[in-house]
This record gives sequence, structure tokens and C-alpha cells, in this order.
Amino acid sequence: MSVRVQCIKCGKVGRIESSSQEAETVKKLYCSCTNPKCGHTWVEELVFSHTLSPSALDFSDQIREKLQHVPPAEQVKLFAGLG
Ligand SMILES: [Zn+2]
Repeated sequence: MSVRVQCIKCGKVGRIESSSQEAETVKKLYCSCTNPKCGHTWVEELVFSHTLSPSALDFSDQIREKLQHVPPAEQVKLFAGLG
């Protein structure tokens, strides 16, 4: 994961020690400050917000089959109406 965390006490970069999946859309990140003079440890929450473009996995096999025959430029038009 490429999430960067920052210590709110001293502003230095934090290190993610571990994480736990709290719910389907919520992940907790257990962080510690990399500043040896600070030593702050904390928990951050990573929460899913909303979908920007739909996952191809949301489509049925039938629709996916059809999409394979649609040129990419046309696919963009199809997706523009969704969401
Ligand atoms: Zn700190």
C-alpha cells in the first residue's frame, strides 16, 4: 500500500506498523512516528468513499461478453451513463 501517514505531533513521516480490516470499507492503520525524539503512536482509519468508475466485476458475464466486441471509444460512452 502506498499510503503515507504523518505524525500530527511533530509533522514527521509515520510508519505503518500493521493494519486491520475493520469492515468491508474500513481499514485501521497502526502507525508510529519515525522521529526518535517523538515516539508518538496512533491509529488512522482508511475509509472507502465512493466509486468513480464501475468495476468490470459488477457486470454480468453476458454484458462482459458484449463489451468485448465494443471498441474502447464506444465503451467510454457506455460507462458515461453509469454511476
Ligand atoms: Zn512525531
